[in-house]
Amino acid sequence: MKYILYSISGAMKVHAIEGRGFSGNIFLIDAKKPCLVDSGWEPDISFCAEQVKEILRGRRLERIVLTHRHIDHVGGAMSFYGEYGGEIFAHADDAESLTSGDQESTGATLFGGRIGPMPVTKLREGDSIDLGEGDSLKVIHTPGHTVGSMCLIGGGSLFSGDTVFADGGVGRWDLETGNYDQLLASVEKLSGLEFEDLHPGHGPSVKGNAGAHVGLSLKHLRLIGRYG
Ligand SMILES: [Zn+2]
Repeated sequence: MKYILYSISGAMKVHAIEGRGFSGNIFLIDAKKPCLVDSGWEPDISFCAEQVKEILRGRRLERIVLTHRHIDHVGGAMSFYGEYGGEIFAHADDAESLTSGDQESTGATLFGGRIGPMPVTKLREGDSIDLGEGDSLKVIHTPGHTVGSMCLIGGGSLFSGDTVFADGGVGRWDLETGNYDQLLASVEKLSGLEFEDLHPGHGPSVKGNAGAHVGLSLKHLRLIGRYG
């Protein structure tokens, strides 16, 4: 089990808990109001219990923010919720698939899993998630991988879910509610933002100069559009 402290901005410390197998990455933000970005896909959270306990130091989770509806990002949400509490948030356009426990568009059926219905508070473009002591994450709606995919920006970090990855990677757009043109517009939007670090839903995070990685993602996506 590996977890890495990536960046500190104000009171906000980003801990990355690497995904295993199909599971996406989990980020635990140690702020005044502790916040989880994505929950991975584990039936229980025993695999990272020690780390989470060490970071939370007896506090409860206040927010569980899900970047999009796919099971490898949301499958562990109810375990974290049951163990540590925390209001669960997702973009309005993906929220209903989670509140209703839609096994198809969440990829549960496709990947041989099951997601239960969960209580979700809806977020929209420009919403701010307060982490206390002046720290916050801002919601950037980035449809394309799914219609309700979102990225979060705050404290110099971009949490990009499955929209972009390190080294110019981009999310797939061929799954239910995915759309190439929307993904391209979303990556264009991200390329205009200022951030230092990138925390994607799969693979390694990038520390410093992360805008260059998103620039590469945009270049790759445009090339695919031209020749694909
Ligand atoms: Zn996904």
